[in-house]
Amino acid sequence: MKKIVMIKPIVEIDGDEMARVMWRWVKERLIAPFVEVKVEYYDLHIRVRDETDDRVTKQAAEAIKRVGVGVKCATITPNAERVKEYNLKKEWRSPNATIREILDGTIFRAPIIVKNVAPAVRFWRKPIVVARHAFGDIYSGAGIRFDEAGEAEILYRSISGREVRVRIGVFPGSGVLQAYYNLDRSIEGFAKAVFKYALMNNLNVWFAAKETISKIYDAKFKEVFQEVFDRDFRDAFERRGLKYEYYLIDDAYSRAMRSEGGFVWAAKNYDGDVLSDMIAAAYSGSLAMMTSELLSPEGYYLTEAAHGTVQRHYYKYLMGEKTSTNPTAIIFAWSRALRRRGELDGSEELIKFTQILEEAVRKTIEVDGIVTQDIAKAMEDQPKSIVSTEEFIEYVRKNADHLYHHRLGT
Ligand code: NAP
Ligand code: MG
Repeated sequence: MKKIVMIKPIVEIDGDEMARVMWRWVKERLIAPFVEVKVEYYDLHIRVRDETDDRVTKQAAEAIKRVGVGVKCATITPNAERVKEYNLKKEWRSPNATIREILDGTIFRAPIIVKNVAPAVRFWRKPIVVARHAFGDIYSGAGIRFDEAGEAEILYRSISGREVRVRIGVFPGSGVLQAYYNLDRSIEGFAKAVFKYALMNNLNVWFAAKETISKIYDAKFKEVFQEVFDRDFRDAFERRGLKYEYYLIDDAYSRAMRSEGGFVWAAKNYDGDVLSDMIAAAYSGSLAMMTSELLSPEGYYLTEAAHGTVQRHYYKYLMGEKTSTNPTAIIFAWSRALRRRGELDGSEELIKFTQILEEAVRKTIEVDGIVTQDIAKAMEDQPKSIVSTEEFIEYVRKNADHLYHHRLGT
């Protein structure tokens, strides 16, 4: 069989535990047999991060800026237990946070929908993709607990010495208060990434906030989204028949429940934090049926699985047990990254292969009824068979082989 040749490489970022084990299986058994894989490889195994004082994470992020496209395996974000477990120098930062910061990217989380797992909301037929603005607001705010009556104001002192004061309130007794901020630059980058992603995926965009109440803060977000849309995206959206809609956030929630899905929901930091977990649970209940893509305003693109390293399954695997860990999100991370590469390089073959690979996964689950444990739990009817990770990959491989020879074979 003639393998598909990649014109340019993608950045491959390896990770930890069960995710790392599945990563190798997916690459060796589902990608490499079809594609002459060309990658710039960075190993973010927790020990390598420790040995390099985490320089390898920064190098990986810089490589994505150079190469344009990356695919990342889940990585351990160390806490005190992990420091002990791996004898680490310190609790290194979350690699995802480091990479996101360097690329200034927005994370898009999309459910992978299969017919035999019904979403909790019966109207939903197409994915709702949540775009979370992962900068500022309460995540970098400051708070005070006060213990007697008093008053508070906000003071802003600009670099040129100008001062602006705003009264927050006069308080009759003890209480709490909080202040937080965001930056125009970050809001604008967020809006750009959202509109860009929507165009790449042919989706409408919703942005929702509460500007009727938050007349300065949320109103700013609403204005920036409208400005960016009118200036840079309106024409392209109209040509494609796509729409951008702003909704009040409570209105958006009730509309979403009655919608059939099929849009990007852009949300402020806290809203997106809450919303993305709810959407993940509502579509299939398994994080393994969820993709996670990072897109920067410049168009740098990184995919990963939405789940973590699946530590509990890894310990079983180390004991020699076969686990039924679901590799679907990892397979989709590879297929999406390769598809982007194919689109950028104009490689029809590579694009077609990624479609075949995803179809092979769907066929395995929907038609053959072969699933991993987590999917079985979410299904209404019993599946034909609940299998181990390696068996699942084997079935996907058979389906992929078949589809490949049918469509691309010589
Ligand atoms: P996790 O790895 O997502 O796993 C949590 C639980 O979700 C698992 O125990 C399993 O449930 C289920 N699960 C997740 N992925 C699955 C899959 N592919 N197939 C089947 N079931 C799956 O989260 P965690 O245990 O909280 O975190 C473990 C490590 O991952 C931590 O060190 C954390 O820092 C890291 N993490 C990394 C990322 C990232 O790199 N993006 C994201 C999150 C967490 P059952 O045990 O019930 O089967
Ligand atoms: Mg959350």
